[in-house]
Amino acid sequence: MKFISTRGDAPVLSFEEVVLAGLANDGGLYVPETLPKFDTIEIASWATLSYQELVFKIIHPFVDGEVCDDDLKVIIDKAYQDFRHEDIAPLHQLDEKLWVLELFHGPTLAFKDFALQFLGHLLDYFLQKRQQRVVIIGATSGDTGSAAIEGCKRCENIDIFILHPHERVSDVQRRQMTTVLADNVFNIAVEGNFDDCQNMVKASFADQSFLTDGRQLVAVNSINWARIMAQIVYYFYAALKLGVLNRGGQSQKEIAFSVPTGNFGDIFAGYLANKMGLPIERLIIATNQNDILHRCISQNDHSKKPLEHTLSPSMDIMVSSNFERLLFDLYEHDGTEIQRLISDLQEGEMLLSEAALATAKELFESFSLQDKEMLEVIAQEFDRSGYVLDPHTAIGAAAAKHYQSSMVDTKSVTTVCLATAHPAKFPDAVEKAGEFLPDSRIPEPELPKHMHDLFDREERFQILENDLSVIHQYIAKELGV
Ligand SMILES: *Cc1c(COP(=O)(O)O)cnc(C)c1O
Repeated sequence: MKFISTRGDAPVLSFEEVVLAGLANDGGLYVPETLPKFDTIEIASWATLSYQELVFKIIHPFVDGEVCDDDLKVIIDKAYQDFRHEDIAPLHQLDEKLWVLELFHGPTLAFKDFALQFLGHLLDYFLQKRQQRVVIIGATSGDTGSAAIEGCKRCENIDIFILHPHERVSDVQRRQMTTVLADNVFNIAVEGNFDDCQNMVKASFADQSFLTDGRQLVAVNSINWARIMAQIVYYFYAALKLGVLNRGGQSQKEIAFSVPTGNFGDIFAGYLANKMGLPIERLIIATNQNDILHRCISQNDHSKKPLEHTLSPSMDIMVSSNFERLLFDLYEHDGTEIQRLISDLQEGEMLLSEAALATAKELFESFSLQDKEMLEVIAQEFDRSGYVLDPHTAIGAAAAKHYQSSMVDTKSVTTVCLATAHPAKFPDAVEKAGEFLPDSRIPEPELPKHMHDLFDREERFQILENDLSVIHQYIAKELGV
């Protein structure tokens, strides 16, 4: 399979090359030139497959012979071996028409494990074959860093450096990163904020000369195509579990997904699932107060606003980088148009054409939720059923409820809210939600067994000045280059 840049002006890459590539050198993101398409009879025949078997079916056409089938199966098995639920992505029913898809049973308790466990093993496989060692540098405000570290800690051909803003990530999030004591894992606490970390990572990619032995940097943020690809699978999995197709491939019920959205990676995977043949009635973009996507879909206002810090921090973004991948489709693969839109956005605002917006609205719907309503949803659900939603999932659940009550006719759509994190990662929000209940209490969600001793484990990290040359010297020293 061939991969092309959304800005139309970068080399065409193979699957292996795209896994190792970050941004395209024209500044764009890589996407497949054409998508594989499955008919509904074939999709229906997958209803009884295990999660891992389904991963193989869906990923196989993208890999297109660049990894042999047996090796691909081994990579997939390794990727999901550390998940603590045998269904990998179990469904939990909230009410007659609303389900949550629990994507938090991986090692770091957030959905990012689905992609980063897979990516770590895939990278290691290609690097082994090439006899090459690479360096991963990433910035994190919380979830990505720990998922990337867990995904790479056993990789023999990768050294990973994760920058987090010193004293600005939660204790659980920091400890999930800093208690991994593998020799190839380096945590840097930068005396600055998340933007400082991210800017230093960007600058490192732009000028890699500090790696004097010519080693290459690899990106593991959600611009990496392999991450998006791995996330397509659970849309198929959930739909099949809920019986949307009968054995003849005919539609049995309509399904919608509500997706707590930040960078638009997770929900874009749902869009791809639909394009690949899975019948989806609606994809609901659930955002917090950082609502650029909601403003875009509902009123064609895609303008940058200052970042707001909310109780769902993993969705706090000003601009969603993966939205460019959708735009590329909406503009029928016209890279020049995308260049124009992005340069408008850099000035502050981009305006979608009527046609592009209308096409987006055929599938996408959007809602923006305030912290208060999110907390009320956590409280209500706990009060009703004892189930505790994490703050990101609660945004998705609230959006799903708005969507369901907006339907005028009696036709109702089974809605699946993606549960992107385990509530134990965000105890402060859960505690605040308790204040909405008469006895003002929701018991603190417990960390799963494998993390019970998280707060007793030894931590290892380096606090460094907010200065690119200091960071580069540290990296070079640790790598011995
Ligand atoms: C990363 C993250 C999101 C947002 O996902 P995107 O792919 O960036 O849209 C939502 N919830 C949690 C818990 C996350 O970690």
